[in-house]
Amino acid sequence: MKQTSKSENERVIVVGGGIAGIAAALRLAEEGVPTLLLETRRKLGGRATSFDDVRTGERLDNCQHIAMGCCTNYLDLLDRLGVADKIAWSRDIWWIEPGGRRSVVRPGPLPAPAHFGASFLRARFLSIDEKFAIALGMHHAAYADLDACASITFAAWLERHGQSPSVIDKFWAPVVVSACNLWPDRLAASEALHVFQEGFLAHRDAAMIGVPTTPLVELYDEAERVIARAGGELKLGESVTRVSTNEVETAQGERLSAQAVICAVPFERAVRIIDERAKHFDGRFSKLGELEHSPILGIHLVFDRPVMDVPHAALVGMGTQWLFRKDDAGTRIHAVISGAFDWMPLSEEEIVARVLSDVRACLPPARDAELVSGRPVKEKRATLAPTPQSISARPTTTGPSGIILAGDYVRTGWPSTMEGAARSGYLAAAAALGRDEEWALKPSLAEAPLYRSARAFAHLVGAS
Ligand SMILES: Cc1cc2nc3c(=O)[nH]c(=O)nc-3n(C[C@H](O)[C@H](O)[C@H](O)COP(=O)(O)OP(=O)(O)OC[C@H]3O[C@@H](n4cnc5c(N)ncnc54)[C@H](O)[C@@H]3O)c2cc1C
Repeated sequence: MKQTSKSENERVIVVGGGIAGIAAALRLAEEGVPTLLLETRRKLGGRATSFDDVRTGERLDNCQHIAMGCCTNYLDLLDRLGVADKIAWSRDIWWIEPGGRRSVVRPGPLPAPAHFGASFLRARFLSIDEKFAIALGMHHAAYADLDACASITFAAWLERHGQSPSVIDKFWAPVVVSACNLWPDRLAASEALHVFQEGFLAHRDAAMIGVPTTPLVELYDEAERVIARAGGELKLGESVTRVSTNEVETAQGERLSAQAVICAVPFERAVRIIDERAKHFDGRFSKLGELEHSPILGIHLVFDRPVMDVPHAALVGMGTQWLFRKDDAGTRIHAVISGAFDWMPLSEEEIVARVLSDVRACLPPARDAELVSGRPVKEKRATLAPTPQSISARPTTTGPSGIILAGDYVRTGWPSTMEGAARSGYLAAAAALGRDEEWALKPSLAEAPLYRSARAFAHLVGAS
C-alpha cells in the first residue's frame, strides 16, 4: 500500500489552470499551503487564451475578453498577478447605427443610478418613446428581486414590463447577450437583471470597460511565475483522468494524494473525471448533465487603411454586435458575436462576408478600404447557457463528497465570466482552508447611497 508523505497529507491539488484554477492555486500558495496545479495544456489561462495563427504567424486572442469595473474579484486576481496595469479602461460606450451615426453613453455628473441619464437622453439611436420605455424598464430592473425572477426568461420579464420589440432589439438584447452570452428568449431573468443592477446602476464605475493591452495568454503566463514564487508547484501538459475527495489520477496512471482536491475544469470535463462513487452520493454531479453551452464567435479583421477611430462600439441592429479597435491606427479590428448559435454552421468565408458587410454599413471609412485578412474563431463551448433551468443545476463549491468545485459554471451569483471564474476559485481556496466567504471574496463595488436608499424604500413598500 502506498504511503503518503506529510506534505502530501497537507497539500491541495488544483485540477485545471484556467482563471478559476489560477485563482484557487494562487490564494492557497499565498497562504503557505503546499499546492499542486495540474493543467492539461502547456499554457495557463484556459478559455481566456491566445494562439499563434499559422496563416500569419501572429499571436491572436481566441476572442476579445472584456472586464467591467464591477468585476472586483477578477481585478483583484490581476492585481495579485502583477498585471492589473495591462488593462486599458474606458468609460464611454459607443453605439453606431447603419449609416455611421454615433451616440456615446458615458457617466455624467449625477450620482448613480442616474449617472448615465444625461448622455442616454442625448443618444440618437433611440426615439423619445423608446428612451422613456427603457427608463421605466431600468426602474423596474433596479428594484427587482432576483430570486423571484429566476424561473422566468428575460423575454417574459421584458414583456411583463411593457418593453416593445424595437427597444428589445436596439437595447436590452444587445446588452444582455454580450454580458450573459444568451438571448432574452432563453436567458434567466435573474441573470440579466443582475447585470443591470450590479453592472450599470449600483455604482458609477461599474460599467467601465476594461480591455487587455497584451495578448490574453501573456496575462496568465505571469501566473506560472507568481504561483511558483508563492511556493506552489505547477505541472503543465498533465491531464487528469479521475478526481476523488483526496486523490487524483493522471493520464500516465500516477495517483497523487492530497488533503483536498479542487476540480477547476469546465463542467463537461468535470462530469467525465469525477470519481463514479462520489457521483452516487453527491447530488451536485447528477445535475451537471443538465447544463448547456452557448457559443461565441470572434472575428479578426485587418484593413489596408484606418477604418475605426473609437476604441470599441456596439453596432445597432446588426448581426455583428461589437467591434474593438486593435491598433492605434484603426486598421485592425476585432468583431464579437455572442450567443452565436446561428453563425456556427456558417463557413469562414460566409462569416467574414457578413461581418464585413455590417462593418461597412456602420463604419463609413471601411466602405472604400480593402480587407487584407479576416479570421473567424468559433468557440462552440464558450460559456454556460444561463437558462432558468441552469440556475438550480449549477453546483455549489462544496458538497457531501468533499470534492471542491471551481469554474465559471459554479454557483457564485455571477454569470459564466472571468469574474465568475475568479470568484469560484477564491471560494474554492477558502473551502480548502476552512475559511469563510468574507475572507475569500473582494466585496462588490459599494452601492451608491441614492441607489441603496431607493432600493430599500422599494423593498419596504413591496415594489417588484
Ligand atoms: C470566445 C470567448 C469570449 C469570452 N468573452 C468573455 C468576456 O468578454 N468577458 C468575460 O468575463 N468572460 C468571457 N468569456 C468567458 C471566460 O473566458 C470564462 O468564463 C473563463 O475563462 C472560464 O474560466 P475557468 O477557469 O472557469 O474555465 P477554463 O478557462 O475552461 O479553464 C479550465 C482549465 O482546465 C483544463 N482542463 C480541462 N480538463 C482537464 C483535465 N482533465 N486535466 C487537467 N486540466 C484540464 C483546461 O485546459 C483549462 O485550462 C469568454 C469565453 C470565450 C470562450
